[in-house]
Amino acid sequence: MSNKRGKLILYSGPSGVGKGTIKQKFLHNKDLNLVFSVSMTTREKRINEIEGQDYFFVSKEIFEKAIKNHEFLEWAEFFNNYYGTPISYVEKLLNENKNVLLEIEVIGAEQVLKHYVGSKDIISIFLVPPNIEILEERIVNRGTENSEKIKKRIAKAKVEMKIADKYQYTVVNNVVSEAANKIIKIIKDNIS
Ligand code: 5GP
Repeated sequence: MSNKRGKLILYSGPSGVGKGTIKQKFLHNKDLNLVFSVSMTTREKRINEIEGQDYFFVSKEIFEKAIKNHEFLEWAEFFNNYYGTPISYVEKLLNENKNVLLEIEVIGAEQVLKHYVGSKDIISIFLVPPNIEILEERIVNRGTENSEKIKKRIAKAKVEMKIADKYQYTVVNNVVSEAANKIIKIIKDNIS
């Protein structure tokens, strides 16, 4: 095994900004040597999701036990479900000299930022919408939630936007391919 360690890539942004869509455009770029950090969650598996690939789906009891045992690099409660990054999994990949992508919401991301403050081992990227109206529109257009929940999501997203300056990089999600290319360049510049 090589002595070189990979970089941790913290990739976050407000709810509804389009993190998942953009991730699909850069995750498999061969030049980046990227591996996705599979999180643990208590939310129900969606029909198209694969256990161990999208998430490790667990019960609330198992998740709470893992919190007690300090098994997470970070964790957060997001709309009544737990989400967390298992530390052993991330460490194993970093030690294999892989760059590890954490795609997580902002509360958990803040814990990671605090943990790695001033460190060269991390690249932090915050994805933002071109403006708040567009974010509102995207949340509404998802069409999966009632108006009360939509209001809550929009209010939450507005608060979440305020922490962008804690990140090394902010990328605007206006055109998907352009945002993805910017992220590819940021990662390349920092790993070479
Ligand atoms: P979803 O339920 O739509 O898959 O994810 C909801 C939110 O949880 C997204 O913003 C996603 O980035 C975030 N998320 C996924 N995994 C983790 C994790 O391990 N920790 C934290 N803090 N957030 C996560």
